[in-house]
Amino acid sequence: MQIWNPWHGCRKISPGCKNCYVYRRDESIGKDASHVEKTVNFDLPLKRNRNREYKLLPEDGVVYACMTSDFFLEEADSWRQDCWDMIKERKDLEFIIITKRIERFMDCIPADWGMGYDNVTVCCTCENQERADGRMPVFLSLPIKRKQVICEPMLEKIDLSPYLMGQIDFVICGGESGKNARLCDYDWILDMRRQCIGHNVAFHFKQTGAVFKKDGKIYRIERKYQIGQAAKAGIDFVPEGYVPVHRSRPVYTQMEFMLTGQEKREQKGCFQELFDRLAQSEFRSRFHLSEKDREYVLAKGMGVIRSHAEDFVSKRLSAAHPDKDGKQTPMRGHPVFLAQHATATCCRGCIEKWHKIPQGIELDAGQQEYLVDVMMEWIKRQMDGTGKAKNACKL
Ligand code: SF4
Repeated sequence: MQIWNPWHGCRKISPGCKNCYVYRRDESIGKDASHVEKTVNFDLPLKRNRNREYKLLPEDGVVYACMTSDFFLEEADSWRQDCWDMIKERKDLEFIIITKRIERFMDCIPADWGMGYDNVTVCCTCENQERADGRMPVFLSLPIKRKQVICEPMLEKIDLSPYLMGQIDFVICGGESGKNARLCDYDWILDMRRQCIGHNVAFHFKQTGAVFKKDGKIYRIERKYQIGQAAKAGIDFVPEGYVPVHRSRPVYTQMEFMLTGQEKREQKGCFQELFDRLAQSEFRSRFHLSEKDREYVLAKGMGVIRSHAEDFVSKRLSAAHPDKDGKQTPMRGHPVFLAQHATATCCRGCIEKWHKIPQGIELDAGQQEYLVDVMMEWIKRQMDGTGKAKNACKL
């Protein structure tokens, strides 16, 4: 999967937004998530590397657009046409747009949209019955080539059956993560599965969420087990002949992709253990942010630096067999490069050794997010001065 965040920041408009990961993440770095701004990666689909090749490639998977905002947000009205132009130009890429603002769709499409661009899938979020009944009739009336529904965080039992006839090809369900997560009942999930099977619509149980009810018992499930537990249930349904938009790749939702990182940050203990181990390595302890690096971080802001880290991880580390693995991270030139060497997130060999993420597999969204979190934690510690003391300690 590839992520393209042309702008960042959003406004809460729906019950599903209550514990929005964008807000939680931004709060943790002292940023106001309600402030919407273009990102440095606004034109990512057209960006090229030094060899004049596109940075986003079809073989790297579908492109999820606007994962830290909403593509149809009013504040982005004047920027969106440029995005459509890029989507149109990159016909070789598949774009997925997840939205809670489907009612704005017709006001936001380009003049030549017609019945829809072939390379755009739109996912409408329905977290409860009220939102389903409000959004689905609108969604079904729209000219979109490929339509999917995401019930995450699923907040109650939802009857989608009146809307599953003909157009919707995939429904994804999942619970809510995070420390304030709301309950998800397995009965709601099974009920949605029955509806999907009844209408021959693909179904995917994405994750249990943090507070999960099954057979009348409520379980608190750690983040690291939420996806695995859902997979263990083995209740996904794929109709005969179904060709997923993501082809052979996993599907991510905004919640899952970001909350993994958010929760990692909340688990400071987990980082502390890692940083204590790193402090014992003479090589890792050598790396520090210079005055110039610190000025760069201050000038750009942590949000931009994070987007750089995400880009580096996605382009240089995420493939099962990255190009020039072991040599893909320069020793200087960007604070993130230093963070990567300091935290052993510089190549797949180091990542396997220090972070127990095996080589030879494509990094999934949660793994990429984790690595970015580690780098950002190191940069944060360097910026607030705690990193120097820790890294100087050689046991
Ligand atoms: S990013 Fe999504 S969940 Fe967060 S406020 Fe915007 S629409 Fe709501």
